[in-house]
Formats: sequence, structure tokens, C-alpha cells
Amino acid sequence: MSRDSSSRTLVLLTGGTGGAKLVLGFHEETAPEDLVVVCNTADDSVVHGLHVSPDVDTIVYTLAGLIDPAKGWGIHDDTFAVLEQIQRLGGETWFHLGDRDIATHLTRTRLLTEGQPLSRVTAALCQALGVKSTVLPMSDQRVETRLSTSAGELSFQEYFVKARWQPEVLSLRYRGIETCGPSPGLLEAIHGAALVVVCPSNPATSIGPILAVPGVRAALRETPAKVAAVSPMVQGRSFSGPAHKLMATLGVEASVTGLAAAYRDFVDVLVIDTEDRGLQPAIEQLGVDARATSIRMDTLDDKKRLARELLQFSV
Ligand code: GDP
Repeated sequence: MSRDSSSRTLVLLTGGTGGAKLVLGFHEETAPEDLVVVCNTADDSVVHGLHVSPDVDTIVYTLAGLIDPAKGWGIHDDTFAVLEQIQRLGGETWFHLGDRDIATHLTRTRLLTEGQPLSRVTAALCQALGVKSTVLPMSDQRVETRLSTSAGELSFQEYFVKARWQPEVLSLRYRGIETCGPSPGLLEAIHGAALVVVCPSNPATSIGPILAVPGVRAALRETPAKVAAVSPMVQGRSFSGPAHKLMATLGVEASVTGLAAAYRDFVDVLVIDTEDRGLQPAIEQLGVDARATSIRMDTLDDKKRLARELLQFSV
């Protein structure tokens, strides 16, 4: 399939917190209708009987202007009365869900139970919340990251939230990945894009599952669009969370050079921080173009500036 030369579609592959910062930058710098945001769903969990889709929700809330900016997840000014009552009733409350956030999970669970696929449910939530971009879960089928750790086998939320990413991770797998398929329109969006951006999300637990959905990695290799990736790390450390600790599960070192090695078969350009400028030659030796700039996104201006810099790669 060849790209329509008038395409302005930007395909963004993302997890939650880190990727959402750049997604917001693109949302502010382009027409929202031109964005197709592909979200990891391997962190999805059933909590109190409700289907929670943390990365999809972080992106939808970000694009709808509902996100809690301090936490980077959930709805701003939300209350926690339901969770407090669950605690009183003896339930587990380590996974925080706000009251208005629970309305999202109730609605999603109801629509899924009625037989609608996750991609259509997500589209309905977007429409109701006024989100004009397309938000695509990576798959309509259930995929679950399972981590083999020093504390036993854990789901991603048990490792990340409950155990505060302290156990040593020996290996991980994406349960269900072999038999899942990409969401409708996902491969076509990659093939027809003006630019594809791998956002600065965890390479093992956010980007890894998306890449492992059958057909996605091949589509990224074959698309005529440029594929750019932004590092979620600087000087071998993540800006937040355990990404650097999990690089070994991908068989690469915890650095931007390791990231280039993990993405080299489909990424044309890797955007790294100026502090990692010294690694540019090593990355280029792997056949990946490296660009150094400031990749820390603390303010809205940082997010917009980085998005603008990436837009220069669109064809
Ligand atoms: P999760 O789904 O909530 O785990 O979130 P993601 O995987 O999308 O995001 C976590 C990643 O975002 C971590 O690896 C962080 O290092 C990265 N990150 C957080 N803030 C920033 C930032 O300001 N700039 C960049 N480049 N990466 C960031």
C-alpha cells in the first residue's frame, strides 16, 4: 500500500505518562483530527470487576483536557468516595480509582459486556468527551504483560503500583500477543501516515507490546513515512519509572544506544537529549540517525517545542 501524498496523518505510538506529554504537544501544534494515537493495552486490568485501560484513559483524558496534571493520570479534582467505601468494606484499594474515573470504567465495562470491541468503545468515549483525534487501543483482544520477578509472577499493575517497581524483573512476556490482531485501521494508518512517532514511553511495557502485535512491526518497517522515536531516558536513567531497569528484558543495555539497537529495524531517527550527544556516533553506527535536543517535557511549551521539532520529519 502506498501513502497518499496529501496525507497529514500523524501516527503516535504511546503508553501513558511520558508519551502523553508529547501527544499533548502534537495536539496543540496540529489539527487534532490528523492524529491517530495508538495506545498500549497490555497494562489493562480488571479492578473491582471493571475493565480499566490505564494508557487509553491517560491519553483520552489528556486530549479531553480532563487529566490531573499533578498525578499524570486520572481526572483533575476527582474525589475518592467510592474507594474509601470499598476500603471500609474490606476491599483492596492499592489501585487508585477516582469517582468520576470510575464512571469511565463502568461505561467501558458495560459496552464491552454488550459485545462492542474495545476500539469502538474507545471511539464512543472519545466522542462523548469531545476528543477529535482518533485514539486506537493496540488491539481489540486481551493482551497482558506478565513479569517474572524476585517476588514471583506479577501483572504490570501489581509490579508498578502495588510493589512500586521494587522487585527485580527476570523476564516478561505479553500473554495473548500471538493470537491478537491489530485494531481495525491501525496498520492502514501506519502505511498511510505522513509521520510515525514512537513516543517516550517505556520500551518494554508500553511500546514493546504495541510492536509485538502481529503486523505492527512489519508495517513500521514498510511504511514510506519516516519513523521517529523519542527517548524516555537520559544518561541511562528514565525521567520517571522503571524503563531503564527493564531494558535488559529486551536484551539491550539501558541507554539511548540500547534503545537504538532495540528499534533499529524500523526507526529512521532517534531523538535523544543533548546530554547524550556523545552517543550520537554509536547510534549512527547502528544505522539510526540521531538528533540531540532537549527532550525533558515539564511545561506545555516544552511539549509543543518538541512536537514542532518532530513535525520537521514529516514528508
Ligand atoms: P506508563 O504507561 O504510565 O508506564 O507510561 P509510559 O510508558 O508512557 O511513560 C513512562 C516513560 O516516560 C518513562 O520511561 C519516563 O522516563 C518517560 N518520561 C516521563 N517524562 C518524560 C519527559 O519529560 N521526557 C521524556 N523524553 N520522557 C519522559
